[in-house]
Amino acid sequence: KKTAEAAAPVAEAAAPVAETAAPAAETPTVIDVRNPGTGEVVGSVPVVSADEVAAKVRELRLFQPEWEAIGPDGRKEWLLKFQDWLIDNTDTLADVVQSETGKPRVDSLIDPAFATDLVGYYARRAAKFLADDHPSPHSPLARVKKLTTAYKPYPVVGVITPWNFPLAMPALDVFPALAAGAAVILKPSEVTPLSALEMARGWAEIGAPPIFAVVTGAGATGGAVVANADYIQFTGSTATGRKIAVACAERMVPYSLELGGKDPAIVLADADLDRAAHGIAFGGMFNSGQVCISVERVYVEAPVYDEFVAKLTANVKALRQGIDGRESKHDVGALANENQANIVQRHVDEAVAAGARVLTGGKRAGFGTAFEPTVLVDVDHTMSCVTEETFGPTLPVMKVADEAEAVRLANDSIYGLSASVWTGDKERGERVARQLNAGAVNINDVFANLFSFALPMGGWGQSGTGARWGGADGVRKYCRQQAITTPIL
Ligand code: NAD
Repeated sequence: KKTAEAAAPVAEAAAPVAETAAPAAETPTVIDVRNPGTGEVVGSVPVVSADEVAAKVRELRLFQPEWEAIGPDGRKEWLLKFQDWLIDNTDTLADVVQSETGKPRVDSLIDPAFATDLVGYYARRAAKFLADDHPSPHSPLARVKKLTTAYKPYPVVGVITPWNFPLAMPALDVFPALAAGAAVILKPSEVTPLSALEMARGWAEIGAPPIFAVVTGAGATGGAVVANADYIQFTGSTATGRKIAVACAERMVPYSLELGGKDPAIVLADADLDRAAHGIAFGGMFNSGQVCISVERVYVEAPVYDEFVAKLTANVKALRQGIDGRESKHDVGALANENQANIVQRHVDEAVAAGARVLTGGKRAGFGTAFEPTVLVDVDHTMSCVTEETFGPTLPVMKVADEAEAVRLANDSIYGLSASVWTGDKERGERVARQLNAGAVNINDVFANLFSFALPMGGWGQSGTGARWGGADGVRKYCRQQAITTPIL
């Protein structure tokens, strides 16, 4: 869709972009944003051009030194003001998240809550995390020196995000970078750009320095961010991550890639099966399975397989699916877009054609893009539902002979984002965890690592390089290390 009014939303969200907007002759392209549950158009945003992105980055570069100079304590004041703004605007923010994702109300509230928690964590700790280190000299040659490692932020960090948590996902990376003293240019997903624009609105509303901007658009706008920023923090698919790695390598610009996953859950025979069935149903179906660390395949020891499958299926069947208003009435909503629904249907159809059985679900839910919560059995590692990321509400379940087979199959994947182990013996759980190729392992739980900013969140293999958070690492990654030696005599 083409329209000359396209520049307006950018002007509101990140005023300086409008000043550098292309001449009127170049009609900008606009992206309509839809509620995938109802099909209703809930907003539209302009496609910001590569030239506009470059100009925006130049402008951020001018303001960043002042932001760096006020130090972590000065930045803390602004970040905590923004945290207050998030708290004051939680309902409105959840409205926007809900409108562009079709999530249930309770899930939409998680976005602002998560962002609020994260901003506070890094605002309060950045000073400690960014303090100089003074390591002891090891050699007689350096004994007469004071050794210092100082942390100096990259001027402009580019953050590129997907659509599954349209407010939380950007916030999780934008605020550690701001806390580090960098300026940030954010390119949210074209599927859900409205929540990110709300963040920019809030930043302007509290009167904070102009060191954070949002540019909307699709891959080309993201490509322009990659071509101009000094560090790239990318979250999204493995295919796009690979392109970004190549582009960053050409510019010699560092990057961190948080990519896709195919997380296994291992249910050992000594597990509390009620807890495991409940937790895995939640881990597979929360956000319609559109979480990078969703449970995407389940391995169950043979003696408890039948009982576990019956309990899991009962949990999944009990889920209420639909579109919420402001009242929370449903557990599962729509998928982000038609493309996602087609991937889920293909994975189910290919599995069934190869001999799998659907115990519940297996088809579209009858409204918008929604797909029914689905349990599949008689699956194996030749099927796309087990080898490819589905990113939808499906739980393929496999019977295994023992722990060793479960570990072998869990590790038989190109991905390595996270995993869960369900057992009555926590020490055994930790032993199994250490054998898994995964950046995070939760024992008797799902998603617990997501709420632990002191831990790193990063994928192995095709699930990414680098990590977000991890306490001090979460801000130091946005800094260059500078070694300073000073004579002490
Ligand atoms: P995607 O790769 O299609 O898009 C992600 C972002 O990259 C979007 O903003 C998109 O516009 C932009 N983009 C596309 N092409 C680009 C290019 N050539 N250069 C620069 N930017 C470009 O991913 P998606 O479909 O939006 O998100 C779903 C994926 O995200 C899933 O694979 C999921 O596992 C992953 N994900 C990972 C994590 C994690 O922390 N590991 C978290 C959430 C989602």
